[in-house]
Amino acid sequence: MPLRTVQVDVDDAIFQAALNRATREGKAIGQVIGDFLSQYAQGATAGAPTSYTVQSGDTLGRIAQKLYGDARKYPLIQQANNLANASNIWVGQVLVIPPLNSTPVPATPVAPAPAPTPVTPVTPPTPAVPTPSGATPPPQPSIQWVGSPNFNQRRSPDDITAIVIHSTANNRLQGVIDWFNNPNAQVSAHYTIGKDGKIAQHVRDTDRAWHAGQSVWKGRNSCNDYTIGIELVNLNDGQDPYPEAQHRANVALCAYLCYIHNIKVDDIMGHLDIALPPGRKSDPRGYDLNRLRREVAAALGEN
Ligand SMILES: [Zn+2]
Repeated sequence: MPLRTVQVDVDDAIFQAALNRATREGKAIGQVIGDFLSQYAQGATAGAPTSYTVQSGDTLGRIAQKLYGDARKYPLIQQANNLANASNIWVGQVLVIPPLNSTPVPATPVAPAPAPTPVTPVTPPTPAVPTPSGATPPPQPSIQWVGSPNFNQRRSPDDITAIVIHSTANNRLQGVIDWFNNPNAQVSAHYTIGKDGKIAQHVRDTDRAWHAGQSVWKGRNSCNDYTIGIELVNLNDGQDPYPEAQHRANVALCAYLCYIHNIKVDDIMGHLDIALPPGRKSDPRGYDLNRLRREVAAALGEN
């Protein structure tokens, strides 16, 4: 796959990073931009780079080594871009690079950085764009981008109005990741949640994953066109439990997706609810979808 190189003005990078931070921290965007601009001004006078486009094979550590001459300074970049997970960067992403002598803003809680893994040249996950809503934004759960070749474009990238919950009929997250990475499989979903609550993302929200097959929801066919598919690792035999950690991660992910895409909680359904002909699918067998909807609504501040 050819390398994607994206040219973005530094002002755009600053704006996007500021928007992310303002959303997360509930601050006025003007205040956050002011902070960034003062960092930018310091960096510019010091002759330091102010933005960087992620290349194939980069980690935050390697970027810090390239730009600062010291890989251990990567938390500065992580914090300036408000990255909860140091591994969650992608080729083509434009990072704000703070000057080396800048003091990290103490208000930003940064999770302990896991060992950063090199990024592969894949299409980026969709940046979180908040929808106008009075609700408190649910936090973005930790998501590991794993990619899949099995997807195509939605006719309209923002036509995302429902969520389909599946179970994988296997018992290993890595098995699902491998299968969805096999081009012969011709199947995928946007996300899979392991029994331990780990969330893997195979396809970005704005692309069309292949999970629903022949299907209909509220009179509209071909649910892949307009839904996000979430797989739960489970044998789907009606006996295998869905552990609490997995359920909690699903609530957090669904609440986040409902918030950023403006999806109604009533439009979270199971594969069994939409498959054609009726009865073709039974997943997610044994999973309490009513409880999921209730808890997602609570996480969104709805009653
Ligand atoms: Zn299914």
